[in-house]
Amino acid sequence: MLPGVIGLVQATETVKLLLGIGEPLIGRLLTYDAFGMRFREVKLRRDPNCPLCGQAPSITDLSIHMDGSAAACEITPNGGRAREGALA
Ligand SMILES: [Zn+2]
Repeated sequence: MLPGVIGLVQATETVKLLLGIGEPLIGRLLTYDAFGMRFREVKLRRDPNCPLCGQAPSITDLSIHMDGSAAACEITPNGGRAREGALA
């Protein structure tokens, strides 16, 4: 049931974006609490230091994944990246 609810929201957002109608969830995070049956919305601001969409992105293509290693996305227990040098 949970995948159906979230899938419906994702499909609705896709149709809205394709048709250019409505108010898409850009800059907002919608959370769903199935146990409490509540939706909640959180506004998000862009992180200017984000390595993907920040002002000076260091990730500009998918080449980090070309060697087939999943380590490119690994996060260490202290929150750091497992292959820090791979993004430089
Ligand atoms: Zn980003």
